[in-house]
Amino acid sequence: MKLLSTGNPKVLKGMEYGFNTYILHLAPADLSGREVCPKRTIGCSAACLNLAGRGGMFKRGESTNAIQQARIRKTKLFFDNRNEFMRLLVADITLAIKQSKRLGLTPVFRLNGTSDLSFEKYQVTIGNVTYSNIFSAFGFVQFYDYTKVLGRKVSHIPNYHLTFSAADGNDNDVREAIKQGYNIATVFGIKKTVAMPAEYMGLPVFNGDESDLRFLDPKGVVVGLYAKGKAKKDTTGFVKYPVMMLQAA
Ligand code: SF4
Repeated sequence: MKLLSTGNPKVLKGMEYGFNTYILHLAPADLSGREVCPKRTIGCSAACLNLAGRGGMFKRGESTNAIQQARIRKTKLFFDNRNEFMRLLVADITLAIKQSKRLGLTPVFRLNGTSDLSFEKYQVTIGNVTYSNIFSAFGFVQFYDYTKVLGRKVSHIPNYHLTFSAADGNDNDVREAIKQGYNIATVFGIKKTVAMPAEYMGLPVFNGDESDLRFLDPKGVVVGLYAKGKAKKDTTGFVKYPVMMLQAA
């Protein structure tokens, strides 16, 4: 079973900057029967990118497809046979590093493509050596993720970058995350033809749709994302409408 994939259109933009992002897509929320998004909200669950692209294409009369089934299989493996899951992850990362070298690209890894697991907590054994997590096992490559979980113990992990995600009903966590120095990913309900607001919540807004390479973002910004897919119809507060946009509407 392969765990990592490439080819998501936004991730492909990273190639223009010399990076090759490999993403792990698990079955989000509790779709596999096991919860992988401990801080998910009604709005983000409804707008989740799990159903973006080919992941959301179903044959007539069917409610699942090969991509969704693979994500469920991977998630079950993570919970039911952690050692085997980690063995496969190590093999995939090792292969990705070789592939990227051949392509002249720098491999980077996003393990929570459609989940929000604290991967810093899970040990990995390679040969006779046990590492405290996958990040220390591959200390020479960059990992990054978005998270809604405050208080993750990652500040001592130099090769793991986290961006905090704003959603419906997590304003207090967002304020705390700003105090802790996180950038804040925020989905704005504007068309792609409209420029991002200059600032939001007192912070400058950086266009996060130019690439997915969050570890290159300046510090102290809101990472603005255009609403896509089901998020365009969000009414929960997951998608934000800054005051200046409402005035202009
Ligand atoms: S936390 Fe992220 S992956 Fe999980 S349901 Fe919400 S948007 Fe999807």
